[in-house]
Amino acid sequence: MTVALAFCISVGAQQASAPWDLLLKGGHVIDPRNNMDARMDVAIQGGKIVRVAETLPATLTKRVVNVHGLYVTPGLIDIHAHVYAGTGLRAYTGDLSVYPDGFSYRTGVTTLVDAGTAGWRNFADFRQRVIDRAKTRVLAFVNIVADGMSPYGENDPDSMQPPEAARVAREHADVVVGFKTAHYAGPGWYSIDRVVEAGNLARLPVMVDFGYLVGERTLKELLEVKLRPGDIYTHMYSPYRTELLPSGELNPAMRRGRERGVLFDVGHGGGSFYYFVAAPAIAQGFLPDTISTDLHIGSMNRGMKDLPNVMSKMLNMGMPLTHVIDAVTSKAALSIQRPQLGHLGEGAEADLTVLRLEQGDFGFLDSAGARLDGRQRLTAELTIHAGEVMWDLNGLAATTWTEFNYQMRPEPTAPAKPTRPTQPPAPNQPPAATQPPAPNQGTAPNQSTPRQP
Ligand SMILES: [Zn+2]
Repeated sequence: MTVALAFCISVGAQQASAPWDLLLKGGHVIDPRNNMDARMDVAIQGGKIVRVAETLPATLTKRVVNVHGLYVTPGLIDIHAHVYAGTGLRAYTGDLSVYPDGFSYRTGVTTLVDAGTAGWRNFADFRQRVIDRAKTRVLAFVNIVADGMSPYGENDPDSMQPPEAARVAREHADVVVGFKTAHYAGPGWYSIDRVVEAGNLARLPVMVDFGYLVGERTLKELLEVKLRPGDIYTHMYSPYRTELLPSGELNPAMRRGRERGVLFDVGHGGGSFYYFVAAPAIAQGFLPDTISTDLHIGSMNRGMKDLPNVMSKMLNMGMPLTHVIDAVTSKAALSIQRPQLGHLGEGAEADLTVLRLEQGDFGFLDSAGARLDGRQRLTAELTIHAGEVMWDLNGLAATTWTEFNYQMRPEPTAPAKPTRPTQPPAPNQPPAATQPPAPNQGTAPNQSTPRQP
């Protein structure tokens, strides 16, 4: 009895001395994995979710963020993006990709999944160049083609090597979630058979962009025979592979594929989302499992824009809000076999998105440039990754400037001297780790001499 009492007191004292870092107060939490769809407070400490409850005391936290009237969801997961930027190539493995941090947090996204931009041969370069430098969590499908979406195309059967792709998946198991084939225009089932073989070797799902219908390749055989349960059919509302029959009826293969466990992903992109396909498909009850952007330079400045915009389209076409959130959180996480992501259970990493659902007159463009008029639009107000505020559109987590405690940097003790490496870094090697001194800050010369890479 005495021991139990002493334990209670010690836990109580610990709570009082270690307050939460952040408390999101008064928001409407939608967390489909935990069947939560109600007004709830969320407490964050040490980068983790520590409490979710109807009312949590503001006295136990260092910072309170008032999110009344807003939706609080797990950090959004975009399972189809292209982020292999910075190679200098004029291809998706280069200029047509975007850097993750420039497009993730500002759109509510905490996890971006690259959809096969890099192949098994250049995956290590993609990793060191982008994945390991991004703050955003970047995961990836490995392209079954050696050089991925390079200037050389994705049609060479000799470069589709399942054992090599599986080896890369093993070596980078912490970031690889599966394999991808796309844009295949050659004959036969070669790209599909090879990518599924890699999936079997590594026990991972595959994502399929079904490319061009050539010869005997049919959607029926792909969805009813070739793909396995858990494999992902992306670009589901494209018209290019008989997804919608000339009669306006959804291809029955789509429904049979779903019955077999194949997952269907939006993958909007620059040329893969059309209302004349999506509207009848949705009217016939065929909603997506996952909503994704197919983010790249060619889609973000056109109809696609960003993930909340694609989510808004689905909402305005009749998909319930909780299903929309499910498709970019819990279901997205499960489709890439990362069940630890996409939910707000206590102990989970504190990835959260605060969304505003605006009512008004809005227009949404598809890949052809046709407009859907809608009355609802989702925008990302606040994005938190591992407990840290990464995006705050209206300064919800901030203090008003008149009460803000400005900490001015100290005066410099020595004149600032810009420094440069004495030798440029060798090609294909990362630059020297030394950072240039911040402006107006003194740095002793011997400390800023660059080390050789
Ligand atoms: Zn894509």
